Amino acid sequence: MMDSELASETSLLQASPLASPLLGVNDVDPVFEQNAGGRSPFLFTSDHYGRLLPEKLGDLGLPESELVRHIAWDIGIAGVAERLADMLGAHLIAQRYSRLVIDCNRSPGVASSIPVISEATAIPRNEGISEGERAARRREIFEPYHRRIDAAIDRRLHDTRPAVLVSLHSFTPVYAGVARPWHIAALYNRDTVLPQLLLKHLRAEGDLVVGDNEPYAVSDLSDYTIPVHGEARGLVNTGIEIRQDLIADRSGQQQWAERLARIFAEIELELRRERLVD
Ligand SMILES: [Zn+2]
Repeated sequence: MMDSELASETSLLQASPLASPLLGVNDVDPVFEQNAGGRSPFLFTSDHYGRLLPEKLGDLGLPESELVRHIAWDIGIAGVAERLADMLGAHLIAQRYSRLVIDCNRSPGVASSIPVISEATAIPRNEGISEGERAARRREIFEPYHRRIDAAIDRRLHDTRPAVLVSLHSFTPVYAGVARPWHIAALYNRDTVLPQLLLKHLRAEGDLVVGDNEPYAVSDLSDYTIPVHGEARGLVNTGIEIRQDLIADRSGQQQWAERLARIFAEIELELRRERLVD
């Protein structure tokens, strides 16, 4: 091989990681949106809405039985989020690819952003991936999703319309062998308004085991959406976690969406009364 040939091959190799796209012609846009023109003050996000895998990543080295579990996505939340957004006329921004490709509720760079193990399951395809592939997952999935949320918030602030951020999630009823009794929970860190209002309403339902920052609390290390879009931008915000077995089927999703739509309508009135939204 001539030196010049070697040189051009080396430069191709160096250029390829960043240039190499992750999503191909058969892959859909990572961002799912509903009611983008909705007038509700609430802006719903769903970081773990979908469990799609880019064609290029195959099955990540996992059997189908793992790819339908909570490690891949938030089971049931898509059905709740879509119904709830429709009932309230609220904007929903959601991410369609599996959290096993890149977790959109983690800072890129932390170990759980592109996990090599989730709960007790090793993710073979995530072992030893190049910086180029890591960058592609961030550039093509993580960033478009968060840019869209940013833009939606910018727009509302520019138009002096309220932006109340609600980050929707679901949790597994058993994690690492420990059962979780809560039906639903408010998750938060710095917001002192909305999580407390939500907790008050959920407890008033009378038939719910309500978690207050259970099974985990929001933090800067373990979360991205609330700290970055909610707290850093000074928005009233909360996270919601619903136990997956309650929303696994359509009737459960419908019931929980109806319940939450009723509660959020009441919360909107209270926020307006307190001039926290106007
Ligand atoms: Zn989640």
